[in-house]
Amino acid sequence: MNKQNIDNILKVLKKTYPEATCALNFGSPYELLVSTMLSAQCTDVRVNKVTSELYKQYNTPEKMISLTEEELGGKIKSCGFFRNKSKNILSTSRELVEKYGGEVPHTMEQLIELPGVGRKTADVVLSNAFGVPAIAVDTHVFRVSNRLGIAKGTTPHKVEMELMKNIPKSMWSDSHHYLIWHGRRICKSRKPDCEHCPLAPYCEYFNHPEEIKS
Ligand code: SF4
Repeated sequence: MNKQNIDNILKVLKKTYPEATCALNFGSPYELLVSTMLSAQCTDVRVNKVTSELYKQYNTPEKMISLTEEELGGKIKSCGFFRNKSKNILSTSRELVEKYGGEVPHTMEQLIELPGVGRKTADVVLSNAFGVPAIAVDTHVFRVSNRLGIAKGTTPHKVEMELMKNIPKSMWSDSHHYLIWHGRRICKSRKPDCEHCPLAPYCEYFNHPEEIKS
């Protein structure tokens, strides 16, 4: 896709979703890290509901590790995969206390070493908690990027690399939110609403459906 088309897409997204931000509620990098771990296969609304209670008492790694796996599992059960999430949150919290003095580290390399923390979670934390430019590729970003043609790839990592190449660094974090919001509201997985999409003039899926059907 040429640069002009990418610029047009970014302009339209910015105009359409000026308020796009992280939908998870958090008061510290640690809370965002835990919320992002909880958000796998779960809605942000559900996570916010669970954490509004959880963080009243357990909002630091030191406090979190006073819970057993079963106790934490009971508190986060409605987020799904609660046994695994509980185990990873506690292991990560222990590591934060032992290796980082209870703080969340600021680099991708250190973050992805933490149990249950992948690139996507690390990107979300880096960008939203520390203001480090990053583009986390979740299911929405992956789908919308491929359909638009703004970044094509068969894996989230490839799409992330393409997006970083095609989008100015100063817009990485905002673009991540724009693409999520667009995927949730218009370019939905099963039935994209191309008829009402402001990006249709620039979209490969819309303009060349014979080539791309995802
Ligand atoms: S035109 Fe259709 S496929 Fe393209 S971004 Fe819009 S909704 Fe998605």
